[in-house]
Amino acid sequence: MKERHLLALSGGKDSAALAVYMREHYPHLPMEYVFIDSGCELPETYAYLDRLRTILGINIIRIGGTSSKDRKDFYYWLKMKNNYLPSIQNRWCTEVLKLFPYAKWLKTNCTNGLVHSYVGLRADERSDRSGYVTNGEKVIQHHPFVKDGLVYSDIQHILGDCGLGFPDYYHWRTRSGCFFCFFQTKSEWIGLYKNHPDLFMKASALEKYDPVSGKQFTWNDDISLLDLLEKYKSNNNYCKTSESKEHNRFVLPKLKGQNSEYYVNNLSAFIRERE
Ligand code: SF4
Repeated sequence: MKERHLLALSGGKDSAALAVYMREHYPHLPMEYVFIDSGCELPETYAYLDRLRTILGINIIRIGGTSSKDRKDFYYWLKMKNNYLPSIQNRWCTEVLKLFPYAKWLKTNCTNGLVHSYVGLRADERSDRSGYVTNGEKVIQHHPFVKDGLVYSDIQHILGDCGLGFPDYYHWRTRSGCFFCFFQTKSEWIGLYKNHPDLFMKASALEKYDPVSGKQFTWNDDISLLDLLEKYKSNNNYCKTSESKEHNRFVLPKLKGQNSEYYVNNLSAFIRERE
């Protein structure tokens, strides 16, 4: 049975550090690198992946993204969802932009094979973030940082020593992903405005107000992006004060009765589900 060793890069620090770590500590493994491109990533993410590609001299297989001819991009799916913006409670974006394309790619490229999937979960992260460890016959998940006891400071050293450093968006945002990601805090939205005003306006244009019902369909539950910007301009501390009132913003949402990590960690079952 053919075996493949895949590391899915997110455009964030941990998966990038894992790529460097695997090269240094497990050089005998024939690693392959994939990036599932939502088509709405930040420019800094693409730049970071380019730097990683150059430093390690690796090829990164890009899955999805707007360049694929048959790609159903975010705007296609938004229309399919009746312009209902994805949210923490209804995270359809992860399914259609990340999980489906990856599952489809695995199905096409790894048929009758065994996939070893390497994940950059650190030893100092919440253990429940690892979700279920799969017993699936097609995908086996590995957590080298957890196994070898690496924590945040180790990631800093790995990325510093190889000259890659952290992604440039880290000075205003803590996670990779779509420019409109609803996991952003209000301060991060303002960071988006300061660093990419065009993307901020693009995200803002997707928000809707229904004059009949008076309902707002916005990325933040309580305020539209334009109102947020206005409030920030009149009071620079607005975001800090407002965010301290938010609770459980980063609680992992449920996706069809399971959390998204269930699907990532049980991709073999997930692929069968979609067949
Ligand atoms: S980065 Fe955010 S908006 Fe993009 S797919 Fe993931 S959860 Fe959805």
